[in-house]
Amino acid sequence: MSDTPTSTFVIVGAGLAGAKAAETLRTDGFDGRLLLLGEEAERPYERPPLSKAYLRGEADRDSLYVHQEGFYAAHDIELRPSTPVGAIDPGSRQLELVSGERISYERLLLTTGAAPRRLPLPGADLDGVHYLRSRRDADALAAAAARAEHVVVVGTGWIGSEAAASLRQLGREVTLVGPNTAPLVRVLGPEVAAVYRDLHADHGVRLQLGTRVVGLRGHGRVEAVVTEDGRTIEGDLVLIGAGAVPRTELAETAGLPVRNGILVNEQLEAVGAAGVYAAGDVAAAWHPRYQSYLHVEHWANALNQGPAAARNMLGRSLPYARLPYFYSDQYDLGMEYSGLAASWDRVVVRGDLAARQFIAFWLQDQRVVAGMNANVWDVTEPIQTLIRSGWPVDPGRLADPDIPLDDVAGEPARHRSGAPAATSIR
Ligand SMILES: Cc1cc2nc3c(=O)[nH]c(=O)nc-3n(C[C@H](O)[C@H](O)[C@H](O)COP(=O)(O)OP(=O)(O)OC[C@H]3O[C@@H](n4cnc5c(N)ncnc54)[C@H](O)[C@@H]3O)c2cc1C
Repeated sequence: MSDTPTSTFVIVGAGLAGAKAAETLRTDGFDGRLLLLGEEAERPYERPPLSKAYLRGEADRDSLYVHQEGFYAAHDIELRPSTPVGAIDPGSRQLELVSGERISYERLLLTTGAAPRRLPLPGADLDGVHYLRSRRDADALAAAAARAEHVVVVGTGWIGSEAAASLRQLGREVTLVGPNTAPLVRVLGPEVAAVYRDLHADHGVRLQLGTRVVGLRGHGRVEAVVTEDGRTIEGDLVLIGAGAVPRTELAETAGLPVRNGILVNEQLEAVGAAGVYAAGDVAAAWHPRYQSYLHVEHWANALNQGPAAARNMLGRSLPYARLPYFYSDQYDLGMEYSGLAASWDRVVVRGDLAARQFIAFWLQDQRVVAGMNANVWDVTEPIQTLIRSGWPVDPGRLADPDIPLDDVAGEPARHRSGAPAATSIR
């Protein structure tokens, strides 16, 4: 098959970033041929509920979809599910489907997302060992959880922590095991991560922290997890949440620069490959504020980068400079996190950590580099304003709930410290 090269835009990867990019191309006036190619069998859907309400059976399948059925046809977007792309050739501006069909394009957007990191452990291929990325994964996990006696969640990052909470809320016995001293400690630091450790403990999750899993045991089906310090933790269902790996294989094979994501400039155009763009979990985008390539694996990044890439595909040349932002819900604790704390020298808390109602600020050289509101709402804007301003703050005023956040910042910084060398936000 061949197309008129000047009229065809192709998006590879029909997830959130791809779907929002396709929508934006149409709302912003692109009237050429538009293909949205996805390897999954259904139309684009949102993943955050897969570890939360959907896993618990509280949200139905229809609520996951990014767009109503009929949206793509109504906007003349050729959505082709079950259509994995096998190769791209930026030189000839062609791509090849796994089926062998070739398609020419003028502009190409890669939104291929990420895949769960597989742990090469003995026994990892036993029945009863699960990962969580797709709706099918969530369905399989929910069905297995309904039959399971004891679930072991390996990994204390976002997916492991949220799934452990949901499985516990479903009434399962849950053990959460991982090498860190508290869930989420790598991002939040010990003081704030302790809130999550206590939250899980209070809900009856058994925490086996500070130890690595070195193998899984069972006869055909998993029966236990073995840790490096010699403990055997029984479990007839194991969920591995060991992070995700960006799906860069198409870009790598085509010779595009890849370093923890496809390297794209601040307009989200691939470095050294004009006409090829990347957005969402698969991208590592140059961020003008941080003067660094940022690889962000969070919902808001996919939601906003997809449309940003689309506008640049239309020739707008707009830098993508939003602050990183993500959210998480575990039990009755909801949080939002803005900014990037690659390093910090102080954490300031406004509110009450023990009551799980607070705003935490990560400071470097007296400047707020990140902020997290937990069960406190409608403060994202002032938190982001503090971060963006780069102004020095008085920690006492920052901690004082009687002083509006808008009034906390001091004078504009005259000697800003160097930007942090950031790479990955997970
Ligand atoms: C269980 C779970 C819970 C989450 N919860 C939160 C949360 O609470 N808060 C938050 O901020 N973020 C959360 N996230 C992260 C958020 O969902 C992701 O950042 C977002 O889905 C990324 O969107 P994307 O479009 O970049 O990639 P994806 O949603 O992964 O979509 C990429 C699509 O591309 C397809 N694809 C890949 N290769 C090819 C190919 N060669 N050909 C065709 N198609 C291809 C994939 O099959 C997939 O459908 C969660 C993620 C998961 C998995």
